[in-house]
Order: sequence, then structure tokens, then C-alpha cells
Amino acid sequence: MGTKVRMQVGGKTWLEVEVGSVKDALKELSDYAEVFSETTCGSCGSQEVRPLVRTARGYEFYEVACLACKAKLSFSQTREGDKLFPKRRDQNGDEIGKNGWHQYEKSHEQPQTGGPPSDNEWV
Ligand SMILES: [Zn+2]
Repeated sequence: MGTKVRMQVGGKTWLEVEVGSVKDALKELSDYAEVFSETTCGSCGSQEVRPLVRTARGYEFYEVACLACKAKLSFSQTREGDKLFPKRRDQNGDEIGKNGWHQYEKSHEQPQTGGPPSDNEWV
């Protein structure tokens, strides 16, 4: 029999997991909180943010987008475990926008050759 654990993140989102142990609870909540704690735009401070998944050129992009200023926070995908984590730095270790929140730039969406698109780094 599992135990239900609820946790509030970001002031308005509830995470609920059903788990068999406290260790599992922490693992599950950790994974979800990594993504769903992002409820405030890092660029303009608005709380009008929403999850966004889009597909382009065969890749899925997992993001949180701000409805107020159109900034977005991209998530990188882990190679194993199907997990996501906020992408706050680029390949060179430089900070992306404000804590990962950056304005949509058309140039990033242009087709590329030789590997995955630049804003969907596989780690
Ligand atoms: Zn914003």
C-alpha cells in the first residue's frame, strides 16, 4: 500500500506522489519539483508562466514559457531516467539570460546540420 505525499511548490502548484517509502517520496518530489517549481518568470517576475512542449525537426523541446514577456526556460533531458532539469548555462558554461530565462531568439530555431539543435543539448 502506497503513501500519498503532497507538496506545494511556487505558491499555486501541488505535487502529489504515491510512493512506497520516504526515499521514493524524496526522489519523486525532487524530480517533479525541479521542473514545477519554476512558477515565476526569471526575466520579468510574472507568475503567468506555463509548461510548453513543442516538437521541431524531430526533437521535443521541454520549456516553461512566460505569457507576459515571452521569455522561456529550457529544460535539458538526462540520457537516462527520463528526467528534466533547468538549463541555466550554455555549452561554454556561460549563464543563459537571467538564471536560464531568456527571450525567444529566432536564430536558434534555424535548421542545423550535424547533431541536435543548440538549445536542446543532450547530456
Ligand atoms: Zn516574463
